[in-house]
This record gives sequence, C-alpha cells and structure tokens, in this order.
Amino acid sequence: MQFHVNGFRAGDPDVHAAAEAPVRVNGANGLPEKVDVLIAGCGPAGLCLAAQLAAFPEIATMIVEPKDGPMEKGQADGINVRSMEMFQAFGFADKVKRESHWINETTFWMPNPEVPGEIARVGRVQDVADGLSEMPHVLINQGRVHDMYLDVMRNSPSRLEPDYQLQVVDLEVDAEVSEYPVTVTLEHTAPGREGERETVRANYVAGCDGARSNVRRAIGGALHGDAAHQAWGVMDVLVTTDFPDLRMKCIVQSQAEGNILVLPREGGHLVRFYVELDKLDESERVADRGLGIDDIIAKAARIMAPYSFDVKEVVWWSIYEIGHRLTDKFDDVPAGQTGDRTPRVFTAGDACHTHSPKAGQGMNVSMGDAFNLGWKLISVLTGRAAPELLHSYSDERRAAAKGLVDYDHQWARIVSAPPSDGEGGMPRVQRQFIDGGTFTAGLTVQYAPSALTDDDRFQGLAPGFEIGKRFHSAPVVRLSDAKPMHLGHVIEAGIRWTVFLFAPRSPQALDDLCTRLENDPSSPLNRYRREGEDIDTLIDFRGVFQQGIRDLAYGDMPPLLRPGVGRYGLTDYEKIFCADVKSGEDIFDMRGVDRDKGCMVVVRPDQHVAQVLPLDADQELVHFFGGVFQMPDGG
Ligand code: FAD
Repeated sequence: MQFHVNGFRAGDPDVHAAAEAPVRVNGANGLPEKVDVLIAGCGPAGLCLAAQLAAFPEIATMIVEPKDGPMEKGQADGINVRSMEMFQAFGFADKVKRESHWINETTFWMPNPEVPGEIARVGRVQDVADGLSEMPHVLINQGRVHDMYLDVMRNSPSRLEPDYQLQVVDLEVDAEVSEYPVTVTLEHTAPGREGERETVRANYVAGCDGARSNVRRAIGGALHGDAAHQAWGVMDVLVTTDFPDLRMKCIVQSQAEGNILVLPREGGHLVRFYVELDKLDESERVADRGLGIDDIIAKAARIMAPYSFDVKEVVWWSIYEIGHRLTDKFDDVPAGQTGDRTPRVFTAGDACHTHSPKAGQGMNVSMGDAFNLGWKLISVLTGRAAPELLHSYSDERRAAAKGLVDYDHQWARIVSAPPSDGEGGMPRVQRQFIDGGTFTAGLTVQYAPSALTDDDRFQGLAPGFEIGKRFHSAPVVRLSDAKPMHLGHVIEAGIRWTVFLFAPRSPQALDDLCTRLENDPSSPLNRYRREGEDIDTLIDFRGVFQQGIRDLAYGDMPPLLRPGVGRYGLTDYEKIFCADVKSGEDIFDMRGVDRDKGCMVVVRPDQHVAQVLPLDADQELVHFFGGVFQMPDGG
C-alpha cells in the first residue's frame, strides 16, 4: 500500500485524513434536506456501495437502515473467490483470510449400500480447482463482512456512518427536474418514533433493501419466478459429533430423511447446517407449517445417522422456502425509454434477484451488483462521465443475475433429488458440483460487448485475459524493490482504470507507446486530466516485462511508468513489474501473452477486462476512452 504521498502522516494508514469541508449538512430534524446518493439498506449490497462512495467526500451519501445497529449473526456466510478478489480492492482481503474458515475440500455422503439407513462418504473433491484464482473460497458470518465495509466507511475521508432506525417507504422521481429529482419518504423505526415521516431529496437512490424492497415497488418493479415448494431449515450451532468431516464442506444425501449441507465456519468450532425439511403444497407458505429449531435439529440428527449429533448451543436459525426470482430491470427507466431518460433509481442485491442459499451466491452477487454500480455513479457525480453510462448497470448486472438464477434452479433441483449415481459411478451431485465450480466461484460473469467492454478482435494477443471477465491475476515481481506480488492487487476500489502494458521481447514498442501517451495532446491521459491532477488519477498505466528483475535497469524505464505524484512530485516506484522467472510462474506463459508483440490490457475499475489491444493501437485507445469519459469542461 502507498501513503505519505503528500507528506508524512503518523498512525494507521487505513485511516484517511478527514475531508476539510463538512460532507453532510443536516436540517433541524437531524437529516439532510438533499443528498447526492441515498442508499436504502445496510446489507452487503448497500454497504459495498457506501464504502465506495465514502472515498469521495465531494459526494453527499446517506445510507439508511430500519434496524437499530449493525448485524451480528445469521443470513449468508459464503464468500466465493471472486468476492475475495474484490475485497482485495477494498483492502480487507487479508483480514477476511485470517478470520474466516477456508473451504479446501468438499466431501459427498450418500446412503451406505450395506446399511441404507446410514450415510457413508462416497467422494471428495478439491473445492476450488488449481489456477482459478489466487484467493480461497471462505465462510464467514455476513455480519463480519458488514463490519469490514463499515470500517472502510468510518475511516474514509467522508467518515460515513449509517442512519439506523430509518427506512424508505416510498419515492417519486420528477423526470422534468435535473437537480435532486428523487423525493424519498423515510419513516423512523426507533421505539417511540415509529411511523414519523420525513422527506429527503436525492440525485440518485440505490435500493439495496432486500427481497421485500420498497424501492423496487416504488419504481414498479416486480420479481418474477417460482418457488420450489420445499421447506429448508438453516442453523448455526456449536455441536459435538463423531461425524469425521465436520470441518469440511459436505453434501449429505440420506436414503429417506432428506439432505444436509454442512458448512464449517470461522473460529474452528461453529458449523452451519442447511437441513431439508418438509415438501410444501402448491398454495402453502412455509410459515403455515409452524416448524422450529427443534424440528431442524431432530431432522439433522436423523440424516446424520449413524453419527452422534448433540447440539450444545444454537447461535442462529431460520426456516425458509427456496424461490428463484428476478426483476425485469434494475433501474427506473422503462425498456423503451433508454434514449430519452437516464436512470435515477437502481435496485441491487436481493431487491432485484433471489435464489436458494445453497449455491452460496446471495451475498456475493449482491456485492457484485454494488461493485458494478459504484464506480459508474461516482464517475457521473464527479463529472468524469456522462449520465448515459448508468444504463449499463442494469444491462450488465441483470444478465449476470439471470445466469445465476438459471444455474441455481439446476443446482437446487439436483441437491433436493433422491441420491443417485451419475456417469462412472460418481454421484450426480458430485459431478454437477465439479462442472459448476467456475460458476460458484463467481468467475463466469462476462459482460457483453458495449461502450465499456470491447469485442474480441485482439483477444489472441492475451487469451488468458478474457474480455468482459474479471482480470485474472498472476504473480509478478516489482522491479523497484524486488517484491513478489500479484499483479491484480494493484487495482483499488474507486474510479481509476488500469492499463497493463505487456512488453514484447524487445521493449522498444512499449517505450514508444509510453512517449506518445505522455506527450500527445489527444492521449486519454491528457484529454481527461484536470488541472493539477496527477497523471494517473483517472487512468493508471503499469508496465510488465518478460525479463527478470536483474536484467532490467529501473532508471532506463519510460518516464510514464515512473511518474512524479502528489504535492512534492515524489516518484511512484510501484508501476513496473517483471515476470516471476525465479518461481517459474511466468505471467506471460500463464495468460498466453504474445511474447513477440506484447499488448495492452485495459481493466475497468470493477476489475473486469475491457479491452486487449496491440501496443500501436493508440487510436483505438483514444476512441475507447472517448466512449467512457467526458472532457473536463463536460464536453
Ligand atoms: P440484505 O442482506 O437482505 O439487506 C437488506 C437490508 O435492507 C437489510 O439490512 C434490511 O433491514 C434493510 N431494509 C429492508 N427494508 C428496508 C427499507 N424499506 N428501507 C431501508 N432499508 C431496508 N443467504 C445465504 O446464503 N444463506 C442463508 O442462510 C441466508 N439466510 C437468510 C436469512 C434471512 C432472514 C434473510 C433476509 C436472508 C438470508 N440470506 C441467506 C440471503 C442473503 O443474506 C442475501 O442474499 C444477501 O444478504 C443479499 O444482500 P442484500 O444487501 O441485497 O440484502
């Protein structure tokens, strides 16, 4: 991490200097009259969005939550590798790695053929295939993930804190007004103030208010889909048992009692069990059955036979029914009106898609929505991009959510089906688990070609950096200080784009490109830079060389890759990398980068690859960024 860039600052570098001007001006009722962004809901989606906005104190952000404080337990717990990669950009991946339980193996249990009333292990697989990501698949309480975002918000220049005990009940958008067109009706939920209403005007509203979203309802969105008419119980417990795989993720299918998913949790002792309960009638609601924690425990004990199962403490439990639902649009602009209006209201997370928890995707996809929306909103609110950019949020994220709902349907059906062998004697559920590994890791999301994601004309220059998918990081060594690290870890949450320049064997073409980019007035570096800004404020160029660190001289590197930054013009020493020839994990081989031609890999602020280009494609680069940014004067 880099700090002291504008002079020495003592203390924890994660705590940023507070903004000089007050970020929020409250009226007599303690609430602001106007804000730039109002976020409904402090779940993973709302907090992920707030954490991004908080870094920009010039944007007035308000996040409201009807509960009286941060969540402590319950709900989701699965963090896939893609979310871990995203956590790296927020700076708390290492903390989550230390605190969470890592899922390394998944085991499969079916009826013992000798004693069908008892279960026996029939298979095991490595949970995340080699080479998918540098990050592990982990389990941790959703509340702790919230805490990480709350820390980022609290330590940001705007010192953003949620407004608890306040919920959105309704909103109206005045399409004729350009400033603060959304009037949001808020209601207090604090004891003694229930039902008291206030209004706040906002430029943008993000409905991250869960499956029963009022924001979705207010913009006329409806969830379409179906329910599986199957009750499931979930419990987080401290239990003693002689079941040998308690610290592995396990999928258990019994002969006649139903199925269990075992998820070991953080801290070495806690375990979550998803337990299949009763089949429901078509018209029946799960609440009608009157099921409780005793039913979950009794059913779990029967499924786990012959193993003992003695629950010592129930930490959290819930009973639910599987539903797969999706809204038509994740913003307030009806399909036929995208040419006339730009979005003012968005929905994210469970507010616009719901699915079964067993594929472990709810929290991940919700944060993925917010990570996609955050940089776009900030780019528009800071005048870097035109509001039309915001249409891409619904287009990109609805397609991602649709993929999830479709996959989840299939997975939920297989998990709930009677135990059966698939091809080659491998249980069907195990085969499906292996086939779906990249999907559940969160790595199949690929944004379609658009102004933000180019077509694949030049994909052959680096097939391992798939256009539209997340940037697949690989090891490198930093030239200036010989630090082995992951190249993707240079990307931080925010609005900055990264262009990785992969040098050909003879780096002359890269030198020439750097000179042109730095000096040509039409270069995107010069076009969109504001007076007094560092050269890398909006687009960050980084060089990657094929040679080892001892074969290159830092002083010979192009000045663009050694820029002066901050108020003293201190050199940024952290923009040049070499292949890790010592370990043998060579990024050029791992990602198939053309060693003779090299290439540029353009990466969006949300870590997705936007473009792969030849090193002489200056005009394509100019054209591409022309579709993303607007000139400093708004032109
Ligand atoms: P949520 O996490 O639901 O957050 C929405 C937030 O908005 C909440 O804090 C809510 O209080 C707040 N809110 C609600 N109404 C308003 C309003 N009108 N105005 C402002 N704020 C509002 N997933 C799993 O993988 N496994 C599980 O076992 C599991 N159990 C769950 C149990 C429950 C009771 C719930 C609600 C969800 C559960 N989920 C589970 C789903 C998982 O938690 C979600 O997929 C994930 O949290 C989605 O994140 P989100 O931010 O979109 O929504």
